[in-house]
Amino acid sequence: MMESYLLGYGLMIVLCGVESILLDMTHTFDNTSICWPNGQAKFQLKILAKGLQPGGFWYQGDDITSGIHVGTHMDAPCHFYKDRWCIDEIPIGRLVNRPVVMIDIRQKAAQSPDVNVTLDDLKRFETKYGKIPSGAVVVQCSGWSDKYPDVAAVFGNNREDTSDFHFPAFSVAAADFLIEQRGIVGVAVDTPSVDYGQADIYPVHVLLCNHNLYLLENVKDTCLLPPIGATLTSLPSKIKGSSGAATRVFASWTFSVSRAGRVHYRFKFVVVLLTLITTYLP
Ligand SMILES: [Zn+2]
Repeated sequence: MMESYLLGYGLMIVLCGVESILLDMTHTFDNTSICWPNGQAKFQLKILAKGLQPGGFWYQGDDITSGIHVGTHMDAPCHFYKDRWCIDEIPIGRLVNRPVVMIDIRQKAAQSPDVNVTLDDLKRFETKYGKIPSGAVVVQCSGWSDKYPDVAAVFGNNREDTSDFHFPAFSVAAADFLIEQRGIVGVAVDTPSVDYGQADIYPVHVLLCNHNLYLLENVKDTCLLPPIGATLTSLPSKIKGSSGAATRVFASWTFSVSRAGRVHYRFKFVVVLLTLITTYLP
């Protein structure tokens, strides 16, 4: 099975010079999952049964306990605005294969955690990479994914005092521009909230939710995305009437392999081929 995968992979690169990447951007859910401190239940998996059954078959069954806004999750528009889509009402077309752009603010976030993706960051990005496409998801990369799930590092302080939180997100002006001028469908952060730690209320949540955008929080490895050229798929559980849900987030993209790269891959391909021949021929 593995061998045929490698063969197909090698053939694709040798013949087309194209490599495809699939990036899982979801932190695994377990009892260390980051949880906003508002009385939500921490994630817990309770294994009800696990083992060989009297009928001779293996069986495992479990319960989970968890708040909704825990770990890598999606905020539905109804989270911060009345009569907007709840998680089950977001059209599937807005969730699957969306063009995605990655805004890298690691440099300034390393200087101070009290920063945002600003309008200037977006303007600079567009000067370099072109206009952010309509229907896109805009992803912030602050480097916070590497701190997850260290609570003190992620929140910038002990988790209980929300007035003393320090982490980056999006500015109101940036969010407004992305809604009004670019027609995006969602935003994502590698931090616990789309409002930065020092926001006293939640203006970015309110603005985005009012316009029926979805918000992805605690997203993993956002900085591994290319600035442009990838697509993003975000699949929340379809829970009726919920303000959010745990979400599997992943991105995919392809890139052309250079001539030198193709020679390198061709060599690897021949090695795999020879290994297969010597393994399977009598
Ligand atoms: Zn949330």
